[in-house]
Amino acid sequence: MSALAVEDLHVWFDLPGGRELHAVQGIDLALEPGERLGLVGESGCGKTTAILAMMGLLPPSASVAGRVLLGGEDILAGGDRTMRPHRWTDIAMVFQGAMNAFDPVKTVGSQITEPLERAGIASGRAARARTAELLELVGISGERQDRYPHEFSGGMRQRAAIAMALACEPKVLLADEPTTALDVMVQAQILELLVRLTDELGLAMILVTHDLPLVSQACTRAAVMYAGRIAETGTTRELHHAPLHPYTRMLFQATPDLRGTGAVSSIPGAPPRLDEPTVGCPFSPRCDRAFAPCAATRPPLRTAGTGHLAHCHLEGGA
Ligand code: SF4
Repeated sequence: MSALAVEDLHVWFDLPGGRELHAVQGIDLALEPGERLGLVGESGCGKTTAILAMMGLLPPSASVAGRVLLGGEDILAGGDRTMRPHRWTDIAMVFQGAMNAFDPVKTVGSQITEPLERAGIASGRAARARTAELLELVGISGERQDRYPHEFSGGMRQRAAIAMALACEPKVLLADEPTTALDVMVQAQILELLVRLTDELGLAMILVTHDLPLVSQACTRAAVMYAGRIAETGTTRELHHAPLHPYTRMLFQATPDLRGTGAVSSIPGAPPRLDEPTVGCPFSPRCDRAFAPCAATRPPLRTAGTGHLAHCHLEGGA
């Protein structure tokens, strides 16, 4: 059984004037225990909104539909009542920008202890001991638990945010741009830490990022999102070397290669507005392979093998 399965997930936001923004437009994802899946795409494509919906953490202006199956149970079905017992204990999240994850006036340790106590896992001395253990797990001395967030460096805060997310031993971790705003050396350390922890703890992880090299390094599979939908899913190798969707190919072509092989080209134009309905393929105004049916008809789902899928009219690859 999958550690996490997301089926036909939709998110709408209410806008002034009775309009709606359809931020996530029916995505499907499946994650095996211990698997690391990259969720990639340009800013505003719906990546963060999708994982916030999986955690039940969207504001009241959002409406969510679809299924989020955790160990076979649909945790979206009964709203917050069904979500609450699973949030942080079975599915946890590392937020973008570790400074925002911590209350500046509380010690780091007390904020890691809080979910342990709330979930009834440990309290008092046992909770402090577990907090020290969690900090050690991410490479921070347990003695630092009485320090405040501003006494930690950016990299340490990010490690502590990971420790906080792991406090209740979740089975699924959603990591939202966990290395953004960190210098390259610290980025590499955080990535290494996430890979080690998922391997050691059998934790399934969705890594949300716009950084394709990061995904290629850390994940075996990836899903490429465009305008609220999944454009293509496959192994990172398939997406890099045999993409089915032109958007995936153009994303890789827009990524600088350190070895200097291949020219870098940007993707022209901008993604479509999500508060207006789209006819046909949402990528068609920017696509260098667009042809007659693209602007008129919603692209079908094509497959090039088990698990390698794309929504595109093209047959035979991008
Ligand atoms: Fe390009 Fe057409 Fe495929 Fe859309 S359906 S990505 S426009 S080829």
